[in-house]
Amino acid sequence: MADSPYPHLLEPLQVGSITLKNRVLMGSMHVGLEEDWSYEKMGAYFAERAKGGVGLMVTGGIAPNRQGWLKPFAAKMSNQIEVRRHRTLTDAVHAADGRIAMQILHAGRYGYHPISAAPSAIKSPITPFGPFALSGRGVENTIDNFVRCAQLAQDAGYDGVEIMGSEGYLINQFIVRHTNKRTDKWGGEYEARIQFPLEIVRRTRAAVGPDFVLIFRLSLLDLIPDGSTWEEVVMLAKALEEAGVSILNTGIGWHEARVPTIATMVPRGAFTWVTRKLKGEVSVPLVTSNRINTPEVAEEILARGDADMVSMARPLLADPDFVNKAAAGKSQSINTCIGCNQACLDHIFSNKRASCLVNPRACFETELPKPTAPRGLKVAVVGAGPGGLSAACEASEMGHQVTLFDAQTEIGGQFNLAKQIPGKEEFYETLRYFKGRLADAKVDVKLGQMVGLEELKGFDAVVLATGVKPRELRFDGADHPKMLSYVDVLQGAEVGEKVAIIGAGGIGFDVAEFLTHVDHGEGPNLQDFLSEWGIDESHQTRGGLVPAKQASSPREVTLMQRRKGKLGAGLGKTTGWIHRAQLKKRGVTMLAEVAYEKVDDAGLHIKVAGEPQVLDVDHVVVCAGQTSFVPLQEPLQAAGVKVKVIGGAKLAAELDARRAIREGMEAAIALSQ
Ligand code: FAD
Ligand code: NAP
Ligand code: SF4
Repeated sequence: MADSPYPHLLEPLQVGSITLKNRVLMGSMHVGLEEDWSYEKMGAYFAERAKGGVGLMVTGGIAPNRQGWLKPFAAKMSNQIEVRRHRTLTDAVHAADGRIAMQILHAGRYGYHPISAAPSAIKSPITPFGPFALSGRGVENTIDNFVRCAQLAQDAGYDGVEIMGSEGYLINQFIVRHTNKRTDKWGGEYEARIQFPLEIVRRTRAAVGPDFVLIFRLSLLDLIPDGSTWEEVVMLAKALEEAGVSILNTGIGWHEARVPTIATMVPRGAFTWVTRKLKGEVSVPLVTSNRINTPEVAEEILARGDADMVSMARPLLADPDFVNKAAAGKSQSINTCIGCNQACLDHIFSNKRASCLVNPRACFETELPKPTAPRGLKVAVVGAGPGGLSAACEASEMGHQVTLFDAQTEIGGQFNLAKQIPGKEEFYETLRYFKGRLADAKVDVKLGQMVGLEELKGFDAVVLATGVKPRELRFDGADHPKMLSYVDVLQGAEVGEKVAIIGAGGIGFDVAEFLTHVDHGEGPNLQDFLSEWGIDESHQTRGGLVPAKQASSPREVTLMQRRKGKLGAGLGKTTGWIHRAQLKKRGVTMLAEVAYEKVDDAGLHIKVAGEPQVLDVDHVVVCAGQTSFVPLQEPLQAAGVKVKVIGGAKLAAELDARRAIREGMEAAIALSQ
């Protein structure tokens, strides 16, 4: 491994009789293909990642019985019909020289259905259904169901199973007093509460034999009040090793925890210190996880000795070839996961199939092909925002001769504004990736050039990715010097200490973040993150929580919207609460039902639910959405040029980079068929 670019990351790992190619574990993600009748799409999805060189992959959670469903009719493994279905998947992975384990997940009180079961009948704060308490017989049956599920997974050709014991699911609910009030042998003191996971592991190991990989996902930091102490975690880890686990994987935070654990504003590798604390306490390999998204970060974590393997889940949605690219010394060409959750977790929480904002082919491997164009066309792409970048790279890789134009002197469009937002530094990575990909695909890039009809007439086809322009507002004083647009602010305009923001969509929230952030000048900082969210690094408290540090803000900000109801209701399902909580901590005032009357030297005159108010502010920043910017479509069509309009240029409403990038890819496919 001496001349390997990442010697620790790419070093093989022996687990029992199995040799894993490297130290990368693709962590479990429910992607919405688990419930498909045919597992062909799942097979294609995992086979692509196996070809990409991942050491060991773990499927999304599969329930051991109906009570353990995540939602009604969710995937489970309890009979031979299901085994046959899974064989399609394991065969596809093994044909691609990969290794895969099936995760067994019993949702317990997190089950989104009326037959959920838990140690005690205590409803979770994040589901509408109250669980029923398992009887003593019910507990025994559940353990048997875990064991049967593992045996069936073995029959289905899996290399192992992962028993999900973290994130607040059933096993975690048994471990912690707060959700386990039982008075029988499965409740009471800690030693009794951990018998449920220990019995599952002991009996599973006995049933599957010594060579089957048995991973246990252990909650190392619950991040809930009354969670486990560090001494308890260590006690359980040692007992699990004795009971027969082959690998311990790290779990951070229950789903009901009010602490961000994987969103983009969490610093990279923010929780590996927790795994490091367990090193030396057990001898089985330890896997660390959460916000590890580059080979450099992964290598540093392993070289430092924080863990024996790294778990990356979303980064392998973003780039299935992550490991092969790292091994080939081409980490600069990795499509980096930006931690946005927009197309993966947010889709799952909206009952949609997961994909990836930066890689729309993820989980759509069989539906978004990459055809070779029968006739290479001369294609112009106008606009080098996310939509245009995607269209240009895809079209060129399919065999067209592509020229990409942008009026700006750098690629990226609105991403150049987005990357200025504290916590969105990962957006730089997407621009780095596209820059390299444009060069590899030999796209002719012409920047600093605002193109019109004349420049485009000689092309066979034109993709218009000209994006959006900020909506202009009309009221008295709309041209007052106090008025600024979000573009002015993010391009460096001076902003006073008292600010009102019109519009509370994604950009309004981002601008509020930008204006209230205290800049320490060195990017995301782990100590600031831990103290801002009340995470106890010494882990002396139950659940690892301490009072959060009082946040300060350099400005007094009021964020407003016209509609009634909670501000930020339209933000991402898994990240909106973080943005709201963060701004509240910094004292941002949030006003709904606002009518904007006028701006003058006294400030912004508004009515809130009909009541007049004057906000004495230095500046009013308009973040009131956008309108499409597509001046060229009609003249081009009139000149007989084939035109495709994508991204913001096609529809400004509810535009995001996820849609823009996908439409760029679809436009290229359409030109090639
Ligand atoms: P744009 O990015 O608007 O790019 C259009 C490009 O076309 C521009 O570079 C422009 O110069 C060029 N152009 C226009 N006309 C011509 C012409 N005639 N000749 C040459 N060039 C021309 N989205 C998310 O999904 N997640 C986020 O977290 C997120 N955060 C954001 C934060 C901020 C502060 C902002 C401002 C936006 C954010 N967005 C986010 C939105 C996202 O950036 C846009 O949805 C996306 O950039 C739209 O892509 P696009 O390709 O359609 O157009
Ligand atoms: P947006 O989400 O549509 O929000 C626009 C805001 O302006 C709303 O609060 C709207 O609320 C208000 N508004 C609309 N018309 C108005 C008018 N005529 N006068 C006054 N207020 C008006 O748009 P955006 O914030 O510009 O964001 C653009 C896109 O970028 C979004 O669709 C989003 O998906 C994406 N984005 C995503 C993120 C993210 O973190 N995921 C971050 C930034 C941007 P009222 O009508 O109630 O006033
Ligand atoms: Fe990562 Fe965002 Fe893609 Fe999810 S959608 S995998 S968070 S880049």
